[in-house]
Amino acid sequence: MGVNMKAILLDNVKKVYHGRRGEVAALDGVSLSVERGEFVAIQGPSGSGKSTLLLLCGAMLRPTSGAVAVLEQKIGALSSAERARFRARNVGFVFQLFHLAPYLTVLENTLLSNGAGTGRQRRAEATALLERLGLGDRVRHKPAELSAGERQRTAMARALIGRPPLILADEPTGNLDPQNASQIIDILAEYHQQGGTVLLVTHQPGVSERAQRVIRLERGKIAG
Ligand code: ADP
Ligand code: MG
Repeated sequence: MGVNMKAILLDNVKKVYHGRRGEVAALDGVSLSVERGEFVAIQGPSGSGKSTLLLLCGAMLRPTSGAVAVLEQKIGALSSAERARFRARNVGFVFQLFHLAPYLTVLENTLLSNGAGTGRQRRAEATALLERLGLGDRVRHKPAELSAGERQRTAMARALIGRPPLILADEPTGNLDPQNASQIIDILAEYHQQGGTVLLVTHQPGVSERAQRVIRLERGKIAG
């Protein structure tokens, strides 16, 4: 791996959705380069294409045209099974609404991560991670028995386990009070300090201040 290895490289990317109300160009000619180890915030009004950009960077979607490379892997060339394997090894996702499995415990949700097995070593790793995130006495709780902050820290544990090189967070603090929000950003910042790459969608100015660079999307294009 080269020292200047790109985490993300988008070249003139367009993404068109074919919805019930016709075609929507969610991204319309976006070019973007993110180095390994960068912490980048993405801002922009609702509907500007932020989530679509994150889903492309996480190999959840393929571009309609243009090229997407994640960790120097061209995504357009991969089948959906190959993309799933790529994600499992390389990408942790965090969402605004947590997306935890309601019938699984905190520990089981953490181990549900694509890349994580359920062996003894993995359980020990997950337990240690949950303790570090302040969830040591919550491992057997289910999401309904947790506060919003605890739910999002569980989702952070699920994203961080196995230490993937890339974390994609889509408004992860949007449903949290300021204290819980800053805990989540502290966890992301620590992961970044240890060499991780972070793409963080956020509306909150205080949150994007923690990033090294802010990218603004407007109507599917990078603004300014
Ligand atoms: P943001 O995250 O900035 O709010 P999105 O990337 O979610 O923006 O959406 C960008 C545009 O694409 C919006 O106009 C949205 O309605 C549209 N869109 C997003 N997902 C779909 C989809 N699955 N089908 C049709 N249109 C979509
Ligand atoms: Mg969005």
